Amino acid sequence: MNLVFLGPPGAGKGTIAKEAKVFYSIPHISTGDLFRAEQEKGSELGNKVKAIIASGQLVPDEITIEMVRQRLSQDDTKNGFILDGFPRTIAQADALAGIVDLDYVVNFVVDKDAVIKRISGRRFCKSTGRTYHVIYNPPKVEGIDDETGEPLYQREDDAPERVATRLEVYEKSTAPLIAYYRDKGLLVDVDASPAPETVLENMKKALTK
Ligand code: ADP
Ligand code: ADP
Repeated sequence: MNLVFLGPPGAGKGTIAKEAKVFYSIPHISTGDLFRAEQEKGSELGNKVKAIIASGQLVPDEITIEMVRQRLSQDDTKNGFILDGFPRTIAQADALAGIVDLDYVVNFVVDKDAVIKRISGRRFCKSTGRTYHVIYNPPKVEGIDDETGEPLYQREDDAPERVATRLEVYEKSTAPLIAYYRDKGLLVDVDASPAPETVLENMKKALTK
């Protein structure tokens, strides 16, 4: 199954993708995670995109499309994939259409207040990318990853002053993809406001219709 997860920052796309990838036995490809991994490695790409990501703006389409093209050429995507956080612009969606056919685009529907609460409490482990929430999904020991014992961090772009920019960027550049994919008959709306277990169940049901 070839899936795209669409929705504002903090909607819970990554959280649901971690479960859905096991259920559907397909890889979870998050462009945000790929960029953060490049930054951790200190690669040329990582250094190039660091300041852009920290500012809350989008990485240029050419760079992002090329990274996704390479990732989708790997063997593990043959039986499907979850693309999380890509496409984020019409140009990226057009490029993707030239690479693969999609089965569904899951639109995570959740209001702005909830998204802001989710982002402000988000914490992550740098080496594994595992994500927590200080209230909704706390680690066993405050500030520490459950498995590695490493410290948890707040993403630089999750700082309150960056979040407003990211939500504006989402409205301007990414939200138009809702109509784009609805017109193509690919869009499936999923209410992302309840707890993750419920969101996952609702999505699974919606994808069998
Ligand atoms: P979130 O999960 O909060 O929506 P991501 O982890 O998906 O955030 O993305 C973090 C940042 O990485 C984005 O704000 C942007 O700078 C960059 N990024 C991720 N995916 C894309 C993309 N498809 N196009 C351009 N920039 C991207
Ligand atoms: P996205 O990938 O869309 O940016 P994440 O999956 O990283 O979003 O979730 C953002 C934050 O909200 C994380 O801290 C996560 O633990 C929390 N979260 C995710 N889904 C839910 C949910 N359904 N209810 C409450 N909190 C959630």
